[in-house]
Amino acid sequence: MIIGILGAMREEIEPILKLTTSLSSMNYGENIYYFGKIYNQNVVIAYSKIGKVFSSLTASIMIEKFKIQKMLFSGVAGSLNKNLKIGDLIRASSLCQHDLDISAFGHPFGFVPEGSRFIDSDNLLNQIADEVAKNLNINLNIGIIATGDQFVADKSRKEWVKNNFNADAIEMEGGAVATICKSLGVPFFVLRAISDSADEEAGIDFDSFLNESAKKSADFIVSMIEKI
Ligand code: SAH
Repeated sequence: MIIGILGAMREEIEPILKLTTSLSSMNYGENIYYFGKIYNQNVVIAYSKIGKVFSSLTASIMIEKFKIQKMLFSGVAGSLNKNLKIGDLIRASSLCQHDLDISAFGHPFGFVPEGSRFIDSDNLLNQIADEVAKNLNINLNIGIIATGDQFVADKSRKEWVKNNFNADAIEMEGGAVATICKSLGVPFFVLRAISDSADEEAGIDFDSFLNESAKKSADFIVSMIEKI
């Protein structure tokens, strides 16, 4: 079994790299891929750079070139749900692309023909996550994660995404990674720790809480690897 672990930014994978043994790396497609072991499992780790295009590229390379068989995404997100506070963890039940818009043709937001508005994450990985949360006494929230190529720091956009997709958290990669993994038949899991509330304070909150929240998500992912 080879497990892929993906983040968008260095801060999101750094805590995981610190726990990886037999570490080596390789440059490919203008990115760095790390190889090693965690709890005796083979892992391929990378941070894609921010956004849907870079995360799609990195996910595809991990699957096609480095033959990962499961994908775990770890990172931070903005909260769309007043019950989700900075530092809280949320796993995606399903993901969507909030900025995908051909509504001029009568299609719903987030939909293109032959695609689907929402993509469900893997049941088995979700079950493992729920067990890990229970064993460690961690509160793991479950909800819809909306993805788009925008850092949302605006109450009206936040409300729009929340209302249109019934989403609980917002970020810039998960829905893209979900699309790649579904198309290529790789079970995937997306975990985010809240770094901000996607409102006018989001930029400041993000900078203040990125490291702390990224580590919470990363530590949880590492605990999951022991159980996979
Ligand atoms: N400060 C960074 C940019 C961060 S972009 C820089 O200057 O380089 C935000 C990242 O965190 C993205 O990878 C996204 O997935 C996630 N994220 C956190 N809060 C978000 C929000 N409110 N809206 C969109 N993405 C958010």
